[in-house]
Amino acid sequence: MTITRPRGTNDLLPEQTIKWQAVETLLRDMCQEYGYQEIRTPLFEDTDLFARGVGDGTDIVQKEMYTFTDRSGRSLTLRPENTAAVCRAYGENKLYGLSKEVKLYYIGPMFRYERPQAGRFRQFHQFGLEYFGCADPMADGEIITFAWDFYRRLGLRDLKLLLNSVGCHQCRPAYRQALSAYFQPYLDQLCGSCRERFVRNPLRLLDCKNDACMRISAAAPKITDYLCDDCREHYQQVKRLLQAVNIPFVEQPRLVRGLDYYTNTAFEMVVDSIGAQSAVCGGGRYDGLMEEINGQSCPAVGFALGMERIFTALAAQNESIEAKQRVDVWVIGIGSRSTRDKAFAITAALRRAGIVCGMDYEDKSLKAHMKAANRSGAPVAVVIGDDEVSAGGVQVKLMAEGTQTFVPEKELPAYLLDRQA
Ligand code: ATP
Ligand code: MG
Repeated sequence: MTITRPRGTNDLLPEQTIKWQAVETLLRDMCQEYGYQEIRTPLFEDTDLFARGVGDGTDIVQKEMYTFTDRSGRSLTLRPENTAAVCRAYGENKLYGLSKEVKLYYIGPMFRYERPQAGRFRQFHQFGLEYFGCADPMADGEIITFAWDFYRRLGLRDLKLLLNSVGCHQCRPAYRQALSAYFQPYLDQLCGSCRERFVRNPLRLLDCKNDACMRISAAAPKITDYLCDDCREHYQQVKRLLQAVNIPFVEQPRLVRGLDYYTNTAFEMVVDSIGAQSAVCGGGRYDGLMEEINGQSCPAVGFALGMERIFTALAAQNESIEAKQRVDVWVIGIGSRSTRDKAFAITAALRRAGIVCGMDYEDKSLKAHMKAANRSGAPVAVVIGDDEVSAGGVQVKLMAEGTQTFVPEKELPAYLLDRQA
């Protein structure tokens, strides 16, 4: 029986990886503009990290984790998200000793045992930012601006920013109570998971995707009616900053996000045209998480975006990323064995000079070689036959014009680089 890839995973083939690389380059360039540095943490962590950092009552921890016991009996989990791990690494490596503010980014695979469908996989990839040490709403504003501008620079249209504040440990208890009171009479109409959520954390009910539950949630109390003065002011300030940088937003008073550790700002960006899996990124502030993980408090705000959904969204809008393997020069060696050896050496020399160079190593007719040169898309072919070798040079052929010039071997790299410049 042939073996196929595990359900919910993808092979990224060269025509796709080249586009992924282009997106990654844009992200890394933007990180440089904004002052975020990369952190790389392990793909698996102590299971407790996620139970604590993502939240015991979340779908991720309850249903979606790839957890296993290793040979010495430790419980380990493939990371379902990366914020908890970055917080752990921040504490464990005492990054707070470097400066008051630490701005990090990550990019890599995450693992969730979900029902695979369009835009939802079991191994998927996230890019994310974590901004530690700044309690000012400007940090929230920076994170949202980064995400918004990234999608705009990619050429994505119909992007919608959904914004909310989920309050803090001061104001949330009253809201929780109001929610409990609201949902109580509907208990027997809620789905099984929501009946559990009702007991553990009624805020989670607002995140359910079940139709019946969503209909009931639609009239639930709004957290924005329960915010304390500080949270209300923080939220106002975030909105003022977004207006200052011309980023439109839609307030969504029931947006709670899937993770437990959010305080104040919560946001999501969606592209409705891509169907059910419309969320392209999500994030917010989580001032309480660092203490939960490292025992030392530190304000924090961040976001994570799904890499796969970028491509789904672009495809839905008939857009794609222009990225192609470039070939500068095609080398053709034709004639005796020693002439072809010479062509091999010239190819290597051109590559050493930084020229993207292709050569078909098979012994073929000139016609077959020219066909390969055309297929490669190279604007220039370098033809080396027995006569050229005796004359100590090569023929440089411009593919579009069909013109040919003799160039001495020693001058070739400089000649080609000059042409490219
Ligand atoms: P969703 O509501 O789609 O389940 P989420 O709230 O679970 O998303 P987060 O945990 O905040 O998402 O992850 C941030 C982003 O990662 C999402 O906005 C989405 O673009 C992407 N993402 C999340 N889960 C998956 C998955 N299983 N497959 C592909 N992308 C995903
Ligand atoms: Mg999810």
